Amino acid sequence: MRCKNCKEKFEPARFNMKYCLKDECVRVFVEEVKAKQWKKTKQKMQQDLETIQDFLNMTQVIVNKFIRLRDKEENCISCGKHINGVRHASHYLSAGGHSSIRFHEDNIWVSCYKCNVMLSGNQVEYRKALIKDSNKRRKRVNKRPKTRTKSISSTRCCR
Ligand SMILES: [Zn+2]
Ligand SMILES: [Zn+2]
Repeated sequence: MRCKNCKEKFEPARFNMKYCLKDECVRVFVEEVKAKQWKKTKQKMQQDLETIQDFLNMTQVIVNKFIRLRDKEENCISCGKHINGVRHASHYLSAGGHSSIRFHEDNIWVSCYKCNVMLSGNQVEYRKALIKDSNKRRKRVNKRPKTRTKSISSTRCCR
């Protein structure tokens, strides 16, 4: 058997031993094992990340659907015009860059295709509308029945 590192002949103590026991060769062997383990860990992390990403995407679809229902009679948040065709759930602060509020309903309002897609949210007009009609919008958010939360707390399911 020849050592994989120094290429010298040696007597393997174990089956499958590819390195001899010289310090230098043991070091190379340890590095190889570490690299293999890291590769495995990295793969696992990437898989987990994909799972989280799937979950976030799925949640976003549901949240966007809720926003479209909440704003089903509203005009485009940015240009204020009546929306013909597809109604977009437009983030004021982008979902990617602001993950903590990507599902916050104050950050998502219905807009038209032109403002959301072609003008990337039409931010300047979006901001003006948010400031101008904030009270009106807050009322709309608060008006929503909170039956679900109530029923959970009043039944004291955790006891
Ligand atoms: Zn060696
Ligand atoms: Zn618009």
